[in-house]
Amino acid sequence: MPKAQETVLEIDLKSLEHNYQYLRSKVAHTVKMMAVVKAFAYGSDSVAIASKLEKAGIDHFAVAYTKEGENLRAGGIEKPVLVLHPQSHSLKLLIDNCLTPSLYSKHILTEFIKTAEELNLKDYPVHININTGLNRLGFSPEEIDEVISILRKTSALQLVGIYSHLGASEDPAEKEFTLSQIATFKKASEKILEAFDHNILRHLCNTSGILNYPEAIFDMVRTGIGLYGYGNSVEEDEKLKPIGTLKTIISQIHHIKAGESVGYNRAFIAKKDTTTATLPLGHADGISRIYGKQKTAVLINGKEAPIIGNVCMDMIMVDVTDIDCNEGDQVIIFGKERSAEKFANKAGTISYELITAISQRVKRFIID
Ligand SMILES: *Cc1c(COP(=O)(O)O)cnc(C)c1O
Repeated sequence: MPKAQETVLEIDLKSLEHNYQYLRSKVAHTVKMMAVVKAFAYGSDSVAIASKLEKAGIDHFAVAYTKEGENLRAGGIEKPVLVLHPQSHSLKLLIDNCLTPSLYSKHILTEFIKTAEELNLKDYPVHININTGLNRLGFSPEEIDEVISILRKTSALQLVGIYSHLGASEDPAEKEFTLSQIATFKKASEKILEAFDHNILRHLCNTSGILNYPEAIFDMVRTGIGLYGYGNSVEEDEKLKPIGTLKTIISQIHHIKAGESVGYNRAFIAKKDTTTATLPLGHADGISRIYGKQKTAVLINGKEAPIIGNVCMDMIMVDVTDIDCNEGDQVIIFGKERSAEKFANKAGTISYELITAISQRVKRFIID
């Protein structure tokens, strides 16, 4: 990899393959794997990620919205793509792109049947989402009899999957809650399996579900964050490899006197003579203001340089008083050498939020 000359997000597909194989090793070989590539594959590059995983043998993909699935198809992705949260207006587009809808409410179920029947579809594959306690999307277990009878009345759809989503699978303190979600899912899904004679895939686990609740693996798992190199625990983080490294360079160095301020609103006032470096990325690139005011630091020549003052739209300033560095030197924000999880935690957030926020202005550089 040549030295970065601007802000870039390096995406290492070898690390992706490593993470995929690691997660695969956690489930029986008969269990299918669905890669969650929503939100530009967690802020990386959904087509590059999905193509690599398709070659590596992934069974299924998931995205949040129909447009994201359309984008995968335009990029040549052929494996089934589950749309987790389709909206009524996008159902035609969803079908045109051979995407699989997750039906989560009576409204969207009815709308989808209407669209499918108008198009004279037969046995179009759908998944049903059951709400087992997250209270975000999904049919309540009490609605299942009605869902079964609605599905039986149409030949336009075929139910090929049932799933639910765990709300706290990474949190040992919420074990009881997670076990109750698993039990509710088991009961509700068994009722559905009994109602149909064809094969229906059951899936419940996200990344932390796979790692912490092997008893909840069923027929397929949905993994997102693990593929990108984070496992929601110190032990798992050690086994996974972050695929994305956000790098930049030093644009300018300033030597300021004690009492001078740095940046907007004078949020940093130098207590002593200070050397600062200005970096070409800011909140418009995804480094939010929550990381400013010395909450977090970047890495320059192996040393931590705290972000001082307020993060600007296009720039941040860091304290390099004790670091031997020059204009043009490399800066690591997060990635291989420096966990996005730790960077995020220092400002009170999580890797998911940090990595998915990296905006489209940042150039992606794929390494295979
Ligand atoms: C985002 C999402 C996932 C992936 O979760 P990770 O914790 O990133 O593995 C799985 N299932 C659903 C329904 C999701 O929304």
